[in-house]
Amino acid sequence: MTEIIINLPPGVTPGNPPVTAPDNSDGHVTAIRRLLRRLRGIMARSGSAQERLDRIVRVVAAEMVAEVCSAYVMRAGEVLELFATEGLRPEAVHRTRLRVGEGLVGIIAANARPLALADAQAHPDFAYRPETGEEIYHSLMGVPVLRGGRVLGVLVVQNRTPRQYTEDESEVLQTIAMIVAELVASGELVNPLEMAQSRGGASLPVRLDGIRLNPGLAVGPAVLHEPKVVIRQVVAEDVAAEQERLRDAVGAMQDAIDRLVDTSRGLGPGEHRDIIETYRMFAADRGWLGRITEAVRSGLTAEAAVQKVRDETKSRMMQVTDPYLRERLYDLEDLANRLQQVLSGQTSGTAAEMPAEFILVAHAMGPAELLDYAHRRIKGLVLEEGSPTAHVAIVARAFDIPVVGRVAEATRLIEAGDMVIVDGEHGTVLIRPRADIQQNVAATVAARTRRRAFYKTLRDTPAVTRDGVEVKLLLNAGLLLDLAQLRTTGAAGVGLFRTEIPLLTRHAFPDVADQTAFYRRVYEQAEDRPIVFRTLDIGGDKVLPYLANAAEDNPAMGWRAIRIGLDRPAMLRQQLRALLRAAGGRDLLVKFPMIAEIAELEAARRLLDKEIARAAAEGHQKPRSIKVGVMLEVPSLLWQLPALLKRIDFLSIGTNDLAQFLFACDRGNPRLAERYDLLSAPMVAVFREVIAQCRAAGTPLSMCGEMAGNPIEAMVLIALGFRTLSVTATAVGPVKTMIRSLDAAALARYLDEIGDRPDHSLRRWLEAYACDHAVAL
Ligand code: PEP
Ligand code: MG
Repeated sequence: MTEIIINLPPGVTPGNPPVTAPDNSDGHVTAIRRLLRRLRGIMARSGSAQERLDRIVRVVAAEMVAEVCSAYVMRAGEVLELFATEGLRPEAVHRTRLRVGEGLVGIIAANARPLALADAQAHPDFAYRPETGEEIYHSLMGVPVLRGGRVLGVLVVQNRTPRQYTEDESEVLQTIAMIVAELVASGELVNPLEMAQSRGGASLPVRLDGIRLNPGLAVGPAVLHEPKVVIRQVVAEDVAAEQERLRDAVGAMQDAIDRLVDTSRGLGPGEHRDIIETYRMFAADRGWLGRITEAVRSGLTAEAAVQKVRDETKSRMMQVTDPYLRERLYDLEDLANRLQQVLSGQTSGTAAEMPAEFILVAHAMGPAELLDYAHRRIKGLVLEEGSPTAHVAIVARAFDIPVVGRVAEATRLIEAGDMVIVDGEHGTVLIRPRADIQQNVAATVAARTRRRAFYKTLRDTPAVTRDGVEVKLLLNAGLLLDLAQLRTTGAAGVGLFRTEIPLLTRHAFPDVADQTAFYRRVYEQAEDRPIVFRTLDIGGDKVLPYLANAAEDNPAMGWRAIRIGLDRPAMLRQQLRALLRAAGGRDLLVKFPMIAEIAELEAARRLLDKEIARAAAEGHQKPRSIKVGVMLEVPSLLWQLPALLKRIDFLSIGTNDLAQFLFACDRGNPRLAERYDLLSAPMVAVFREVIAQCRAAGTPLSMCGEMAGNPIEAMVLIALGFRTLSVTATAVGPVKTMIRSLDAAALARYLDEIGDRPDHSLRRWLEAYACDHAVAL
């Protein structure tokens, strides 16, 4: 074995290869292991953190055959302070300080990247500090001390002779820096409070991907939802006294929840209220409270008893895959936490400790916990768990708080005080964004607020194009909460009420009375505006936990929507019965989803007719009118249009599904999200055909796919001949603004020219057109 020892410093003996031996990989690995063992040994030894750091730099200098090894630690105000050195003058320790970005050490911190220079002094950023005596060292290699993407310091080695450091050496130094990071993060070198303040420019921006639970954009400092309560005593001294404490605490918790229920009333009606009510029922759940009482009786303190039941619940939670049950178990977690807080007097952060506006970061969260925070100025929410139907997401919607869920390791990677951007539109979270990005986002948020205010002023302005084409703008809705937007947006009615959405958050399928009451509330909220109810579109991505459904390879094309309705006619009939009852004296507009053939429409219609007859026989007040429509989502209908249009009162195109089936392209697959463009020749051809046939048959046509809410796409739809668009509430303003700046006939002529181009997409032509003709997109 050849030993390459360039410069044998004290402490390195022959036969003990230095870690810098570059062409002897076995020896190199052994040397690294030995070094790491030594460093671990140092870390495990007693003594102050400063002493351990002093030892570390000594050992590193020796093992890496460097004359100097220095550790700089980040202090408040973005300053790197020399904390330990082997080789530089000892009097420089705790005196030499460099700002982030200043000198080579400052550059390493600012870029959070290693740097190796054979002639450091020749570098333009070299900052000479006379107290260090470093003028005699020519080469320098430094690495950032990183933890969770944050720069906590810089570790440097220097050599007298100019030398090229190898990549291996840089890697070794980076590994050592991880150990130094542990020491710094322990909070023994620099007070943790100061460390929290010393973040900012030197911390790396990190982007985390999650899923969109509630749209919107927010920026602010992070507050970590820290529900843990420390249990100080496990075994009770006086069982009777513990029982008394538990009773009092349960009473106090229930009072607090009652107050939350009152708060939620202030939010107006909606599913969030039902959720909070359910939560209140849980708080009085005899089974849960009984198990805790039992545990107290067995000799545990009240806190420990709650913990015991909580642990049991948790272990059950691990096994549950059913999303609804998981959600219920989270509610219990949330309650257990509250109870422990009441018992221990420990609360999770007071208003005084929190910033005025903030982003809340949590592993998971119950709806009531969110309501607690919502009193304060929570701007956005990041969750490691969560699904769109999670109760916490629904409550967040009531507050218009952007939420990104399923963000892996969010609570580990985000620290209290970190600046965080929550991008609910794209389901991403940006931690410690660069100052310019932060400013951009803040400007975007401000511009949005201004734009929203502007859209509000358009509420009563008609949606008419410059050349006099009137467009009816309707809302897509699914929750009672959405209906409040009818008034704020000035939409003419609801073009698509997705009746399955409210069911996603319920424990069991509602009976006819429940459904009737719900639809009545929908009618009341809509005042006299028309509402098109779509019968249940369950299946696909909308799974009802209480409806047994075998796993399917391809659920979007599986047993869903009208297919379930016709196979389980009792279910569809109950829904139609409820709709007929709720619509007494009003207009009933009902449409069936995922119809693929006329026979399906006829079968659905027969069920409706039976229910109409039943309602008459039972003496229910009749609807003023009944109109039946179909969603055009399955391409097979395109070849049955003449026969179909004869049998229906209106047709709605649902491009979310229609496009996925036309292009054979899963609408939920993020890899395919931009694969095909709706603004392309095949889609334009489909629209032209459907419009022509509807005109010929005199059948009203509307569009309720998401594309209708996108101004450039809506622009094309109108030019092609659509006169009714149903969109999400936030799209009404932008689409109306576009409409009022559009000359529909001129664009129609342009579309005649470009509509058949075999390009992948017509979008860039249309964007250019909008730009040239001042169409507000
Ligand atoms: C559609 O498919 O375009 C549609 C509106 O229905 P959903 O998005 O509910 O499937
Ligand atoms: Mg659909």
